[in-house]
Amino acid sequence: RQEQYRALRDRPAVTQDGVAIGLQLNAGLLIDLTHLAETGADGIGLFRTELQFMVAQRMPSAAEQQTLYEAVFAATGDLPVTIRTLDIGGDKILPYMPALEEENPALGWRAIRIGLDRPALLRVQLRALLRAAAGRPLKIMFPMVATVDEFTRAKAIVEREKAHLRRHGHPLPSDCRLGVMVEVPSLLFQIDEIARAADFLSVGSNDLMQFLFAVDRENRRVAGRFDTLSVPALRAFRLIAERAAAAGCPATVCGEIGGKPLEAMALIGLGFRHLSMSPAAIGPVKAMVLGLDASAVAAFIETEMARAGDGESLRPALSAFAKAH
Ligand code: PEP
Ligand code: MG
Repeated sequence: RQEQYRALRDRPAVTQDGVAIGLQLNAGLLIDLTHLAETGADGIGLFRTELQFMVAQRMPSAAEQQTLYEAVFAATGDLPVTIRTLDIGGDKILPYMPALEEENPALGWRAIRIGLDRPALLRVQLRALLRAAAGRPLKIMFPMVATVDEFTRAKAIVEREKAHLRRHGHPLPSDCRLGVMVEVPSLLFQIDEIARAADFLSVGSNDLMQFLFAVDRENRRVAGRFDTLSVPALRAFRLIAERAAAAGCPATVCGEIGGKPLEAMALIGLGFRHLSMSPAAIGPVKAMVLGLDASAVAAFIETEMARAGDGESLRPALSAFAKAH
């Protein structure tokens, strides 16, 4: 199997009916970037910057952050890389920051909420990113955005940092795109507005499913209570894919779901063309894509979703479809 997957490394991920699917990697440490060459992935769809902060002994300085991001860009070369701003809080604790006593950390002071309330932290990170990406394209996305307004405020902070660097004669990125992670269900009800406001969307299915079904992603006792291939989950993914496409806003899925071949097949059927996943998933997902008829799976999933009762999982039907094709 491993050998077979390795043989696919240089094959573009194109379906039987000619639909190109972008397969990217999730990463967080420099060492993860070695998997780019090994897997033949199209780039980094999610670079989790907090990992570097979590393994550090103290808060990395502005210069240290810039050096790290320069190393990331050096390792990715011309391949695109999407950098996510700090997603700390919740289960991601920095050893050198005072721990917060929160009843529900997953719903607490975390990610972009900290970034907007304590903008110094976010500003240092953004400035380090903008300087590290001088002369090359930069894609930044913000985690745990719950309202369009939060994104607008984050965007304004980026603009202020760009203006600051320009004023001081620093070269800027050749192109700077700002995106939003869709992982808080409130965005499903502002999907048109957020798709118009953002340069791209990236679905954080781990958190989106956790919050949509009110099921703790770390709690094995309740993990089996919902299925990512059930009708309500698929409707959420379909809504994002459709509305993003209507707004001309590229949408990626970067949660774990995109790295599972059956789930990835369903996402392609719902209209997603970019998936970001762990390195080990690239081979199996690419093998699935190469054998897939994208229009057939789109038609199949549409029919099945129209037929299925509320809450029903399409997993058995999709498995049968996958086996038959
Ligand atoms: C997600 O929530 O799906 C995601 C990609 O982010 P993380 O797993 O880092 O929360
Ligand atoms: Mg998340």
